Amino acid sequence: MKIIAMIPARYGASRFPGKLMQDLGGKPVIVRTYEAAKATNLFDEVYIVTDSEVIFSEIELHGGKAIMSKKDHDCGSDRIAEAVEDMDVDIVVNVQGDEPFTSKEGLEQVLSVFEGDDADKIDLASLMTEMHDWKEISDPNSVKVIVNKDNFALYFSRSPIPYPRDKNADVQYYKHKGIYAFRKQALMDFYRLPMKTLEAAEKIECIRYLEYGKNIKMAISNTQGIEIDTPEDLIRANKALKEDNVVSVNNKFRNFPMVPKVVFGQGCFDQLSSILAPQRRNKAPFIFLVDDVFENKTEFIDRINLRFNDKLLFVSAKEEPKTSQVDLIVKNIKAEFNYKPSGIIGIGGGSILDLAKAVSIMLTNKGSAADYQGWDLVKNKAVYHVGIPTISGTGAEVSRTTVLSGPERKLGINSDFTPFDQVILDPELTVGVPKNQWFYTGMDCFIHCVESLNGTFLNAFSQSYGEKAYDLCKEIFLSDTLTEEDSRGKLMMASWHGGMSIAYSQVGIAHAMSYGLSYVLGTKHGIGNCIVFDHLEDYYPEGVALFKEMVGKYQIEIPQGICKECSDKEIEIMIDIALSLVPLWENALGENWETIMTREKLKGMYLKM
Ligand code: NAD
Ligand code: ZN
Repeated sequence: MKIIAMIPARYGASRFPGKLMQDLGGKPVIVRTYEAAKATNLFDEVYIVTDSEVIFSEIELHGGKAIMSKKDHDCGSDRIAEAVEDMDVDIVVNVQGDEPFTSKEGLEQVLSVFEGDDADKIDLASLMTEMHDWKEISDPNSVKVIVNKDNFALYFSRSPIPYPRDKNADVQYYKHKGIYAFRKQALMDFYRLPMKTLEAAEKIECIRYLEYGKNIKMAISNTQGIEIDTPEDLIRANKALKEDNVVSVNNKFRNFPMVPKVVFGQGCFDQLSSILAPQRRNKAPFIFLVDDVFENKTEFIDRINLRFNDKLLFVSAKEEPKTSQVDLIVKNIKAEFNYKPSGIIGIGGGSILDLAKAVSIMLTNKGSAADYQGWDLVKNKAVYHVGIPTISGTGAEVSRTTVLSGPERKLGINSDFTPFDQVILDPELTVGVPKNQWFYTGMDCFIHCVESLNGTFLNAFSQSYGEKAYDLCKEIFLSDTLTEEDSRGKLMMASWHGGMSIAYSQVGIAHAMSYGLSYVLGTKHGIGNCIVFDHLEDYYPEGVALFKEMVGKYQIEIPQGICKECSDKEIEIMIDIALSLVPLWENALGENWETIMTREKLKGMYLKM
C-alpha cells in the first residue's frame, strides 16, 4: 500500500496572514510541519501543495518536495485532489500545514483504521479528541463529531452534539481534528462535487462526504498539538519548541544510561558462560555475532561454549554496518527460531559491536533499522545484549549509538535502549590486531578526546573522562615505557573513557568530514578520521602535532590525495553529508559555525586530502 502525506499550504489565512512563513525556532512554520511529517517515517512521500511561490521555494530550499497547485480551490481537499490526480497512490493523508507539532501517534491512529476488519467499507478516516470543558464544547469554533458504535461519523457540527437535554446523561463529547486519510478513489470522487446545504450552513468541509454518502471512520487521539491560528499561538509554539529542545540532541543536560555491568582483565573472557547463564530463557538461544577473523581460530571459538540451540554467526567487518545488513540478520533469526533470542553477543571491533546493538534493537521493534536512524526513535526495549571488543578505540562498547549506513543517510540509532547490558573487557583479545589497524582504531579514541576537549560543549563530566583518555593515548602511543600487555589494557580503558567523554559532549570536524568520505568513498571510520585529522592543524594545533609525531613513530602511511579523482558531484555529496551533522560543527566552532565553515571552504579542505 503506498501512503503519502499531502500538506495543503495556502499563503493567505484570514485570521493570521502569512502565518505559515512565520519563524518558529529558526525555520518557517511550514518547514517545521513538513519535517515533522517526514520524521514520522509513516509515509512513502511527503509533499507540500501550495498556491504560493514563496512557500514553494522555501520548501525546495530545505530539500523538501513541493507542488504548485494550478487552480483556485475553496478547500484543502480539492487542492490535494488536483495534486494526486495523476499519482499512483492508495492512501493520501492530509496533514494541516499549521500544525508543526503533528504527532506520529495521531497519524498512526488515523492510518491504523485501514488495517481493521471493516477496512473496505471505509472511504476516509479522521481523528477526534475527547472534550471535557463545556466552554469549549459550546464554542462554535470547535467542531464536534458524533459516531455510531463502530466509530463511523454520524454528523459534524459547530453546535454541541448531542444536545444535553438530560443534564445527567453520561456523554462523551468529541472534537474533530482536521487530519484525514483518504482512499484515493474517495478523494477523486469528491473532487469538484458541488457543496450542499448542510456543509454550506455549518461551513464544515467534511460534512460534504456524509451528504454524498461516504463512510468516515473516526479514530481517537488525545495527544494535543498546537495549531498556529493566531500570533499568540506562535508565541506559545516557540516556547514549546524551546522546552522540547531540552530533551533533544544537543541539550544542556543529558540523562543517559551507562553500561550497567562490566568486567575487566586479562582472561576475563572465560567468565562469559557464567555471565550468560542467568539470562538464558528456556528454549531461547543466544546468538553470537563474531568477527570473521576468528573463524579459523578454533581454540578461541571453543571458549565461547555454545549450549543447546545457541547460534554462531561469523560476520565480516570489511565494510561498515548497513541498515540492510541488520534487517537481513534479524529476518534470518526470526525465520530460524520461534523464540525471541535470550540475548545477542557481539564479539569484534566497532563494526561488530554496532551490528550487535542494532540487531538486538530490531528484534523488538517493527520495520527497518533505517526507520530508527536518529535520536530517540526506538520504542521498545532491546533484547539483552553483550559487547566484547577485540580491538580498542571506538568507544562503541560504551556508547549510546550504533552507527549505520542507510539508504538515505549515515547516522546512528541513538537511544536509551542502545547501550549494552553487559560489556566484557579482556585486553588479551586484542593480541592479533595488525599494526595499521591498531593505530587507526586507537587514533579514533585520540581524536574523540581532542574533539571533545576542544569543543564548545565541554563540561567537567566530559573533561574528566576526556583528559584521562588523552593522557592514556599519549602514554600508549608516545612513551616507550609500557609492556605490550599494559599497553593493551590501557588502550582498552582509553577507548572506554574516550567514549564516555563524547557521551556528554560531541565529536567535531574530523568526524563530520570523515562521515562524508565514508558515505561517498566507503572509507572506514578509523582511517577516514586519520586522513582528515592530518589536515586539521588550523583547528586542533596541539592534537594534530602529537598525531603527526605518532604517525612518524610507527611509520604509518596516511593515504593522500584520495579526493583528487572525485567528481564535482561526489564532492558536493561529501559536503552535504558533512554539513548535515550540525551538532558536530556547533561543538567544534560554536553557534555561528555556518559563517566559518562555508561549502567553499569545506570543498578546499576535501580537495587537499
Ligand atoms: P572494525 O570493527 O571495522 O574492524 C577493523 C578490522 O580489524 C577488521 O578487519 C576486523 O576483522 C579486524 N579485527 C578486529 N579484531 C581483531 C583482532 N582481535 N585481531 C585481528 N583483527 C581484528 O574496526 P573498528 O575501528 O573497531 O570499528 C570501526 C567501526 O566502528 C565503524 O563502523 C564505525 O562507524 C564504528 N564506530 C562506532 C562508534 C559507536 O559509538 N557506536 C564509535 C566509533 C566508531
Ligand atoms: Zn569515532
